[in-house]
Amino acid sequence: MNEQPAIRHNLMGLDQAGLEAFFLDLGEKRFRARQLMQWIHQHGVLEFEEMTNLGKALRTRLAEVAEVRPPRVVLRKHSRDGTRKWLLQLDGGGAVETVFIPETDRGTLCVSSQVGCALDCSFCSTAQQGLSRNMTAAEIIGQLWLVRQELLAETGDPRAVSNVVLMGMGEPLLNFTQVLPCLRLMLDDYAYGLSRRRVTLSTAGVVPAMDRLRAECDVALAVSLHAPDDALRDELVPINRKFPVAELMDACRRYVQGRNQKTHITFEYVMLDGVNDQPAQARALVKLLQGVPAKVNLIPFNPFPGTAYRCSPPEVIGQFQDILHHHGVRTITRRTRGDDIDAACGQLVGRVTGRARRLRRVSDAAGVATA
Ligand code: SAH
Repeated sequence: MNEQPAIRHNLMGLDQAGLEAFFLDLGEKRFRARQLMQWIHQHGVLEFEEMTNLGKALRTRLAEVAEVRPPRVVLRKHSRDGTRKWLLQLDGGGAVETVFIPETDRGTLCVSSQVGCALDCSFCSTAQQGLSRNMTAAEIIGQLWLVRQELLAETGDPRAVSNVVLMGMGEPLLNFTQVLPCLRLMLDDYAYGLSRRRVTLSTAGVVPAMDRLRAECDVALAVSLHAPDDALRDELVPINRKFPVAELMDACRRYVQGRNQKTHITFEYVMLDGVNDQPAQARALVKLLQGVPAKVNLIPFNPFPGTAYRCSPPEVIGQFQDILHHHGVRTITRRTRGDDIDAACGQLVGRVTGRARRLRRVSDAAGVATA
């Protein structure tokens, strides 16, 4: 009888280099990596037995030492506006969410990178949960695998997900090792083949990792700025105490340096009533962004239970945007999407973990092991 190794390697999370190393280890040729990437990420095949160009012996060997396992869906929700949300149960009991936002000219998937978050931004509900653990590469890319497969089955369109943003739960640059192979898979023509403009990583400003990202895989970058000066940003985004605004802006300049003219950085700015939404702050923001190819996304604050912040009134957001426009800063105000299913920015976790806990209780009660 064949003995199964205790842990089988989940090949879902390996990029081309990782798969090549894996196959060389097995005494196989490098080109197997590309074949496997196509089977998994393009054909959506999970069973080695169905990977017909691999040869019987290799398929048997793979089934012994490896697996291709996507995350487990415990809940799917549809919003009235077309936004959709998947709640995923991870090994060890954690839960994360993935959100798909359809628009006329694109379909954007918002992907999580950590279970919880260590950064403690004062206006973010994920912060309240703290960090449980980093997600594995298989769990991160598994979100794209899963949604692509489901939308393909429904619509017949393999490109229904045209854009990916790492803007869900967690700080992707504090899980660099697991995030990097996922970015590479997203760009790889043998996997998802997205252009680097259509893959955006959002960071609260982990400066050294921004330089590393630029060197290793320079996808589009979004920076969660939220305040134009250190005093306020220290309060809203505490990692600012380690990497203050001036250092962050230098890192942004380095990120776009030597890149094509069209490259810009997206600066996210959550609109908090009476906190960061004053005209003087808009002018300070204009000054800060001088010389940086920038687009600003004003995000209406999404309140969650227990927060003392309120969203700025629409006319205040309008005035803030006008000042930026007047000074030539490209600015949009993001629409809140999927708020009837708690899919909006910063709402993913609090209620999700509450719900995951409830789900766990339900399944515990039903005698189903979840951890
Ligand atoms: N850690 C990364 C990515 C996750 S947060 C980052 O900080 O960029 C994704 C975006 O949602 C960030 O811009 C974040 O500031 C914003 N966000 C968090 N909580 C929010 C809330 N309650 N309302 C609106 N936007 C929020």
